[in-house]
Amino acid sequence: MNCPYCGFHDSKVVDSRYVNDGIRRRRECLGCGSRFTTYERLQPASLFVIKKDERREEFNRDKLLSGIRKACEKRPLPTGAVEKLADDIEAELYHMGKAEIPSAVIGDMVMEGLKSLDYIAYIRFASVYREFTDISTLKQEVDTLLSAEAEAPQTTSQLSLLPDEEVAGIAKSRRSRK
Ligand SMILES: [Zn+2]
Repeated sequence: MNCPYCGFHDSKVVDSRYVNDGIRRRRECLGCGSRFTTYERLQPASLFVIKKDERREEFNRDKLLSGIRKACEKRPLPTGAVEKLADDIEAELYHMGKAEIPSAVIGDMVMEGLKSLDYIAYIRFASVYREFTDISTLKQEVDTLLSAEAEAPQTTSQLSLLPDEEVAGIAKSRRSRK
């Protein structure tokens, strides 16, 4: 693990303790003396995805990430939001403790995640994943989103994934513009 401050390749452990399901290590860089923290966790046994045609394929985080990324292309999302969604889904999948998971379960998780992140990304993903074959199915989905949006206050819908400070900042800039 390289030092996040100077990039030096070696560090010494100054403290380690068990946390949740892993080990937290406090390290000191042997190059610049800065301290940083690493977590060590057991890699779960491999996870297989059951595809639509019943074939099995080893779960691949990069594939999941690139699917989400494609849907989110050029959308104004907070930095790291796409990676975080992939991480959350991956963690949840391993948390299920199953050896095999149908691809549809993963697809639904992505849909749910994108829905709370960005509606356009959600519709993009859904149109491929749900294989919308005609415009009326697509319209139906958009209508559902619009009615959900009308019920939920703006700040709790698309802004919910922003850190609190950022939401506060947006509210502040809105106020000061008056
Ligand atoms: Zn360093």
